[in-house]
Formats: sequence, C-alpha cells, structure tokens
Amino acid sequence: MPRTRSLQTVVYTGVFDPIHFGHLDIIRRGSRLFDHLVVGVGINPDKAAFFSLEERVELVQRVVAGFTNVEVTAFTGLAVRFVRQVGARVMLRGLRTLSDMEYEFTMSLTNLALDPEIETAFLMAKEEYSHVSSTLIRQIASLEGDVHKFVPAEIVDTLVRRARERSAV
Ligand code: ADP
Repeated sequence: MPRTRSLQTVVYTGVFDPIHFGHLDIIRRGSRLFDHLVVGVGINPDKAAFFSLEERVELVQRVVAGFTNVEVTAFTGLAVRFVRQVGARVMLRGLRTLSDMEYEFTMSLTNLALDPEIETAFLMAKEEYSHVSSTLIRQIASLEGDVHKFVPAEIVDTLVRRARERSAV
C-alpha cells in the first residue's frame, strides 16, 4: 500500500442516487478532518438507479466543485478494494438512525474481515439532515414535490427533469 497518502486520505463511498444535503454535510465535515477526501460513487445491484453511474459521478462533481481537497471517482466491486486502490486506509460513513447503525456495524465488521488494515470512521448526521435519504428524494421528485430542501440547487433541475422523463415512460 502506498504510504504517503494512507493516513491523510479518507474515502467516502455511497450510491448517491442522487447526492443530497446529508451526503454533502458528511463530505464538508470529512474534508475538514482529512487532507484529502475521495468520494467513491458505486452501484447498488439491488436497486434500479434513477441516474446512471456516470450521471451520479457528474452530479456529485457539480456539487463538490468548490472543495479543493475533494475528488470524485466511480468504482465497482468491493469498497475496501477501492480504498486500497486510492492508497487510503480509512473509510468514512454517515450515521442517521439506529437502523443505519445496525447495518453499518455489520458492514464495518465485514470490511474489517475482508481487509483488516482498512478502518471505518463514522460521523453522526446533523439533526436537520437525519431524515434525508436518496430514496425519499426520488419519491418526492417522482410525485412532483419540492426537492429544494433536500438537494443542492445545482442539481435540482436535473432531478426534476429525470423524474418527469421517468413518469412519461
Ligand atoms: P442513501 O441511503 O441516501 O441512498 P448512500 O447509499 O448513497 O445513501 O449512502 C452513502 C453514505 O452516506 C452512507 O454512509 C450513509 O449512511 C450516509 N448518509 C446517507 N444519508 C445521510 C444523511 N442524511 N446524513 C448523513 N449521512 C448520510
């Protein structure tokens, strides 16, 4: 593993379908704690995505454009493998609820079993974002609700357009 970036770099993985204020808050706080933050945009084999992988990467890039120490990359396969590929040792995760905690606890132990050198660090979601999820936002957009409270202004039009396209099918 490259030593130079290992402790300074953190990797934040997720599906980001789409990125929302809860994600952005974790990115902002993580980018202050670590020298370099890599957002890994992955796939969820269990869910049909609203946006393609390439589109999700582009949406995240749009939103984090102002952060000088954040980069965005797509990845497929195991998250721990991706963390190694970028030369990091720490994965960052956000925790919203008790049910997140149960899932994340299992995931972090599994990741530790897969690669004992990669640790997971958690940040608690801020109260105002703890109810925000991409699933909820996709539903609101599909029902023509106002998504401004949940996603950054840079992506609102793209989200509204995609929801309309999907309902027209
Ligand atoms: P979602 O559940 O919104 O589809 P992702 O799979 O993209 O999110 O989640 C990526 C990471 O972001 C996970 O660690 C998840 O717990 C965290 N996260 C998701 N929503 C929030 C939120 N509202 N506040 C803080 N962290 C969050």
